[in-house]
Amino acid sequence: MDKTTIHSNAALTDPFGRRIEYVRLSVTDKCNLRCFYCMPKDFRDFEQPEHWLTFDEIERVIRVFTELGVARLRLTGGEPLVRKGITELSSRLTALPGLSDLSLSTNATLLKKHAASLHEAGVSRINVSLDTLKPERFKEITGGELQPVLDGLMAAKEAGFTPIKINMVAMKGINDDEFEDMVGFCLQHGFTLRFIETMPMGATSDDATDHYLDLQTVKQQLAQSYDLVPGVMPGGGPARYVQIKNTDLRIGFITPISQHFCETCNRVRLSVDGTLYLCLGQDDKVELRPLLRNGITDDELKTVLIDAISLKPEKHEFNNKPDQVVRLMSMTGG
Ligand code: SAM
Ligand code: SF4
Repeated sequence: MDKTTIHSNAALTDPFGRRIEYVRLSVTDKCNLRCFYCMPKDFRDFEQPEHWLTFDEIERVIRVFTELGVARLRLTGGEPLVRKGITELSSRLTALPGLSDLSLSTNATLLKKHAASLHEAGVSRINVSLDTLKPERFKEITGGELQPVLDGLMAAKEAGFTPIKINMVAMKGINDDEFEDMVGFCLQHGFTLRFIETMPMGATSDDATDHYLDLQTVKQQLAQSYDLVPGVMPGGGPARYVQIKNTDLRIGFITPISQHFCETCNRVRLSVDGTLYLCLGQDDKVELRPLLRNGITDDELKTVLIDAISLKPEKHEFNNKPDQVVRLMSMTGG
């Protein structure tokens, strides 16, 4: 058996028996919003353009990942739609034979312009961050305007994305009076709703933890207004779902803090500068850019990726060491 055959049969399995089949790719660390829990208002320390992986480099790394069994990819950031040529990149990635699912996480501010072309390029599923339906509050949380986000969401619906998931970071004293309103909005438009617990990420950790809300509380609050039954979401990832009885609305709870889901983690993250992060909440990483720019062969790259997966830590430690992570979410690719 030659080396190529050995590699193509090798699944990426980490030391804890978890099969890695999903990559989150941060195509930029820049963003046109400044959600206070994600990026400091005056943050400008972005990666230099010459360090960004080019589309050729991204396509190559993802192709090699697919040859090792990765079938799903999510484009994220920063805000992925601020990277020029994102539709072209999407088309190139969906053309990879091993890739069966390309999805996108976005703040939707630029989605109106891009929705139809992204759908045509083969992006199938889309997650949109939306923490409030009140324009003034949206401004306070993100520094931006709500209306373009709502326009972007409607354009995504019209373009035929399915499902469209709304990601709402649940925050005490910030938006905890809007959970029912968001349920109503998602019911009206056929969106899936997911609540997220704030995580202590980078320099924003004080703000994030100040407003932390255990999602059990949110579930209990919703149960007073709605008849919640257990729900399932195909490809739902770490969210635990319920459904409102007699409706199609699924509500997911992503609880990295109160009930971590590390034992089923199936993903790694590739940042815009070509750093492969093995865990959102740990520093273990492998720098791929220097290798890519120094003539590594595909077979050598496969070996590097297989070795990298052996470094994947068992779990994050947001609870015991909340100050440990120095990276912002926008750097790692949330
Ligand atoms: N800009 C895109 C967006 O907002 O969807 C993609 C990148 S953003 C970093 C991905 C997700 O991370 C968003 O849903 C956002 O709410 C979440 N996020 C960012 N910082 C977070 C934090 N400290 N705790 C929990 N979620 C966070
Ligand atoms: Fe930008 Fe997304 Fe971070 Fe908000 S959560 S600042 S939209 S990257």
